[in-house]
Amino acid sequence: MGSIAPPLQVAVVGGGIIGVMTAVGLRRRGINAILYERASTWHEVSAGFAFTGAAREWMGMIDPALVELLGSMSGKSDSSTSNAYWNGYHPRTNEEAEDESKSLLFRTPTNNLSFWGCVRSQFLKGMAAMLPEEAAIFGKQLAGYDEVNDKVILHFDDGSTAEADVLLGCDGIHSATRKVMLGDESRAGFSHTVTYRTMVPIDVGIKALGQKVALNACNHLGPNADLLCYPVMSMTLLNIAVFAYEDSEFPDPDRMTVQVDRSEIAKVFEGFSPQVADIWKLYPEKVVKWGIFDLEDNPPSTYARGRACLVGDAAHASTPYMGVGACTGVEDALVICTLLESVQKKALAGEELKVALEEALQTYNGARLERGRWIHHHSRQMGQMYHWRYGPTGRDPQRMKQKLEENWGNVVTYDVLAPLQPELRALARSHQKSL
Ligand code: FAD
Repeated sequence: MGSIAPPLQVAVVGGGIIGVMTAVGLRRRGINAILYERASTWHEVSAGFAFTGAAREWMGMIDPALVELLGSMSGKSDSSTSNAYWNGYHPRTNEEAEDESKSLLFRTPTNNLSFWGCVRSQFLKGMAAMLPEEAAIFGKQLAGYDEVNDKVILHFDDGSTAEADVLLGCDGIHSATRKVMLGDESRAGFSHTVTYRTMVPIDVGIKALGQKVALNACNHLGPNADLLCYPVMSMTLLNIAVFAYEDSEFPDPDRMTVQVDRSEIAKVFEGFSPQVADIWKLYPEKVVKWGIFDLEDNPPSTYARGRACLVGDAAHASTPYMGVGACTGVEDALVICTLLESVQKKALAGEELKVALEEALQTYNGARLERGRWIHHHSRQMGQMYHWRYGPTGRDPQRMKQKLEENWGNVVTYDVLAPLQPELRALARSHQKSL
C-alpha cells in the first residue's frame, strides 16, 4: 500500500513565473501544491517577455486557461511575420537605418516561434489569481531541507518548517534548493553581458526607431552590443532591451542589478547608427543595469535527488539571447506535472508511493537535463553572435541567419514528451484535449 493517501503534498519553492505555473498545473491535477515565496507578495518586473508557439502548446497541456490568459494580454506575431535583424552600426542617417535594401541584415520567419509578448508582472498576477488563496504562503525563504521518514521537511529562515512528499525548487538562478542538493558544485556565473530595459508607448518607439518596430521583433546588431525591441500589451507599448558585452566583473553578483546613469547606455552605443546611438534618450535618468548570469560554466550534474528536484531557472538559468529561458521552464513544468499526476494515480491504485516518486523524479532528470544544458550553451553563443564576437559567424549575415535558424529549429521542434513512456505522453495530452 502507499504510505499516504492522496492527494500528494507538493511544496513549490519560489513564486516566479515557473513556480506559479507549476502550482497551477498541479492543482488542476488534484495535487495539493503549496507555494512558498520569500517575498511578501507576488512580485515581477514590468518588463516584456515572450513565449514561443511551441511553449504555448506545452503550456496548453499544463492548463489551457494559461494560454487563454496569455492571449488576452499579448502582442502576437504569427506565421506571416518575421524577426528582423538590422545592422545597428553602419548606417549614418535615419533614412539609411530604415532602408531595408541598405541596413536589413536578414529576416527569420517566426514559423512555430510566433512569439506572444506580454508584461511579466501582469502575466504573473493573472496566473496567481488562478490559485486559491491558501495555496501560496509569503515571507517564506527556504534556508534548507532534509528528508525524514519519507517526507521532505522544509526549513525557512524565520525558523518555521513545512512538510511535503516532494519539493520542487522553482527558486531561480541562485536556488537555495540547488545549493542544498548539490552544494557548491553548481552556481551561477556572470556571462559578461548586461542589459538595460524599458518600455515606451508604441508611438514614441516608432518616432525613435521608425515604423519597422511597430510590426515585428527587431534586433539591431553591432560590435559588443545589440538593441532588441518588440511590441507588447496588445501592441500599445514597445519593449526595449539594450544588451552589452562587459569585460569587467559585475559589482554585485548576488543582487545582479545596479543603478546607473542612462549616459552608460549612450557610451555602449557610441559610434552606432544615429537611431541606436540615441536610444538612451528614451530611458529615465537613472536606470537599472542587470548583470546577466547563467549556469553555463557550472551546470548542475542532476536536476533531481531524493525527493527534491529543480525546475525552471533553478535548473538551467540561461542568458536571454535565445529568449526562451521561461519557455524551457514551461517544458519542465509540463513534465513534472505529468509525472506527479501519474505518481498520484499509482498511489491511488495502491502502489508504493516512495518507489513511484523516486522513479518519477529520476525520469524528470533524464527527460530534462540535456535539454536544459543545450539551451544555456546555445543561448550564450547567440549573444556572442549578436555582438559580433562569435568566430564561426563573424559579421556575415548569411552565416548568422543559418546559425540562428538552426538553433530556433531545435528550440521549437523539440518534442518535450518524447523521452516519456507512451502512457505519460497520453496523460500530458489529455489536459489539452479537455479544453
Ligand atoms: P524566477 O523568475 O527567478 O523566480 C524565482 C522565484 O523564487 C522568485 O519569486 C524569488 O523571489 C523566489 N525565491 C528565490 N529564492 C527563494 C528561497 N530561498 N525561498 C523562497 N523563494 C525564493 N524567457 C523567455 O522564455 N522569454 C523571454 O522573452 C525572456 N526574456 C528575458 C529577458 C531578460 C532580460 C532576462 C534576464 C530573462 C529573460 N527570459 C525570457 C528568461 C526568464 O526571465 C526566466 O527563465 C524566468 O523568469 C525563470 O522563471 P523562474 O520562475 O524559474 O525563476
